[in-house]
Amino acid sequence: MTYDLTDVNVLKNLLSRHGFTFSKALGQNFITDPAVCPKMAELSGITGDDCAIEIGPGVGVLTTELAKRAKKVVSIELDRRLLPVLARTLEEYRNAEVVCADVLKTDLRELVKEHFAPGDRVFVCANLPYYVTSPILMHLLESGVPFAGLTLMVQKEAGQRLTAPIGSRDAGAVTYAVQYYAESRMLFEVGRSSYTPAPQVDSCVVQLTPRDKPPVEVADEAFFFRTVKAAFSQRRKTAANGLSSGLGLPKDKVAEALVAAGLSPSVRAEALTMEEMAGLADKLRGKGPEARGQGPGNGPAD
Ligand code: SAM
Repeated sequence: MTYDLTDVNVLKNLLSRHGFTFSKALGQNFITDPAVCPKMAELSGITGDDCAIEIGPGVGVLTTELAKRAKKVVSIELDRRLLPVLARTLEEYRNAEVVCADVLKTDLRELVKEHFAPGDRVFVCANLPYYVTSPILMHLLESGVPFAGLTLMVQKEAGQRLTAPIGSRDAGAVTYAVQYYAESRMLFEVGRSSYTPAPQVDSCVVQLTPRDKPPVEVADEAFFFRTVKAAFSQRRKTAANGLSSGLGLPKDKVAEALVAAGLSPSVRAEALTMEEMAGLADKLRGKGPEARGQGPGNGPAD
């Protein structure tokens, strides 16, 4: 039996038969606009020879569109309560498999090895749970899996950050991190009324195309990301303030590094090009405990 998962009555009946109630904490807003998932799957570039990883299938509304196009789809869903629902909605899609796990705790290289054949092109296509957008994004980009492309639905403001040109007002720490790994572009916007239940915010779909090699060379990648995050940590102040507190360095050491990198000590983080940020990270490296990589980890960029 096939279900029209974009019909709100069908969706509500299906969920109530399984005693399922939406979890806000898990970012459960399901797409019920019939135009969105086919468009997203189509623009992902996935063909019948390709494989797809989906994060957070919900009831499978995007999964079925991916399964119609891909050779194989593996969807990672954290909420165990959705498994019996997905077993029904994906019954007819023999090429769709669900893995019950937290994507952030999933070794994606292992998952790819286990589920796909060597040489398969692997895409990611997902409507992400918004409470963990940046961590998931960094987990994907840092996984070392050579994804062919990532097509992701995210909150509109997050999408604007991800696709902002570096040096523009919308750029943030995550912009540098993403552009280090991939080229990004905005595909289309999705209004809040396209979901059930409707969230408080609008969304958009962005596409990331991983680069063959990063646009800049840095001595220490992890430290480069810590530098970016620290530089943006006090957005209303100069980069030096954020770098000093974020990296645990005395202000004079930060000023020294800025000057050595050919920058003004009062420069703002958003004014730095990727090359300048990379040069600055290299000059800051080794100037203090955190800058030697011995301080607490900062986690993924926001
Ligand atoms: N793909 C569906 C759609 O478009 O209607 C649902 C998207 S909903 C915004 C996000 C989904 O991610 C939910 O099904 C939620 O349970 C799941 N999720 C939340 N946190 C997760 C995590 N850490 N790992 C895997 N799935 C997660």
